[in-house]
Amino acid sequence: MSQWITVLGATGSIGSSTLDVIRRHPTRYRVYALTGFSRIKELVDAALEFCPRYLVVPTEAAAKQTRDLLNQTGMGLAACEVLVGEPALSKVSSDADVDMVMAAIVGAAGLVPTLAAAEAGKRVLLANKEALVMAGPLFMRAIRDNNAELLPIDSEHNAIFQSLPENYTDDFEKHGIEKILLTASGGPFRNRTKDELSKVTPAQAVAHPNWSMGAKISVDSATLMNKGLELIEACFLFNCRADQVQVVVHPQSVIHSMVQYNDGSVIAELGQPDMRTPIAYGMAWPERIDAGVKHLDLFEISRLDFTEPDHETFPCLNLAKDAFERGGIAPAVLNAANEIAVAAFLAEQIGFLAIPELITRVMAMSPDKTVQSLEDVLAADQWAREQANHLLVEFEQIQQIAGQE
Ligand code: NAD
Ligand code: MG
Repeated sequence: MSQWITVLGATGSIGSSTLDVIRRHPTRYRVYALTGFSRIKELVDAALEFCPRYLVVPTEAAAKQTRDLLNQTGMGLAACEVLVGEPALSKVSSDADVDMVMAAIVGAAGLVPTLAAAEAGKRVLLANKEALVMAGPLFMRAIRDNNAELLPIDSEHNAIFQSLPENYTDDFEKHGIEKILLTASGGPFRNRTKDELSKVTPAQAVAHPNWSMGAKISVDSATLMNKGLELIEACFLFNCRADQVQVVVHPQSVIHSMVQYNDGSVIAELGQPDMRTPIAYGMAWPERIDAGVKHLDLFEISRLDFTEPDHETFPCLNLAKDAFERGGIAPAVLNAANEIAVAAFLAEQIGFLAIPELITRVMAMSPDKTVQSLEDVLAADQWAREQANHLLVEFEQIQQIAGQE
């Protein structure tokens, strides 16, 4: 019997890799819904290939464009209903017929529908790390309380999941686990100095040496905030402390992460830097299916290197660690400030080094508050975005004055 999957963020990098895995297993998986925020043409092309029951787009104008394109192709509306907005994202994540949800929207926008999938007891394929960073304890509780399944898609967390004991019960000590070794490629600016970083452009930042990804996560990889978000993600997913996660820079991205045990064993998952491996693993678990990924040739790779991260030049990693240790709303505030800073950098409003500076300033202003509900998380997200936007105006004025001098 086929399993029904909703792909949130189907037009993105993870979304299209997910569709490629589905394409290889057309009887095992059927598409329930596809969602997209822009790139409507691509969304409609995917609809023509995968015949989902629903498409979800952000506005009425986008819905009209989608229906027009569907009508032009002769597929018509009967086979595929077009829905609009956030309530529709949550609907297609939680409908009774859905078996699994690929959470591949980028950023905070993915939180509510991803949580809806958890609350509806689905298999959640979690790529959207920001959702977990923002609302970790709430999200993990929703998974537990509703017998949902959480399969990490982020390659590092997928590797950790594969390297943990099969019966892992959220307890490092019980399983003899000493620490997680979270690997990092180091991004496109590994070994650069602060001075060099002050001049880098968005085009240079999104040109990742090993992985092909969306713009936001590519900038996060360049600042090492991606590794910071992943550190928080690991702590929430596997119920450990920040000091039990050691970041290891490994430029080849062949080892996707490791688990170190108290008897001296280190278990790792290795593979090509191709997201279809963790996606296929999450979809088929506990079975394995062909992901279309080239096999690893160790002779071709020939060597693997490891170094410590440069915290001085890339302060985002420690900003994230501090946010996790502060707890409460702090990770949500960090995430929101980062999203604003990255968008401003991509729009060439601020320089690369202003990203950690802006986040540091917002974190310093943030009160310490506990999180009881989703509303607390969304309020913290909103507050941090407002603070970051105020600071952006200040940063721009400083830049203008510097430019005039
Ligand atoms: P992307 O930018 O390529 O795609 C993002 C998707 O989200 C698109 O379909 C877009 O239409 C949709 N989207 C954007 N804003 C939205 C909004 N406000 N409301 C609804 N939908 C919206 O990003 P990506 O690289 O595919 O990454 C997606 C998520 O997966 C991110 O959280 C990222 O951190 C995570 N991730 C990506 C990779 C990778 O290799 N690309 C690896 C690990 C984790
Ligand atoms: Mg990753």
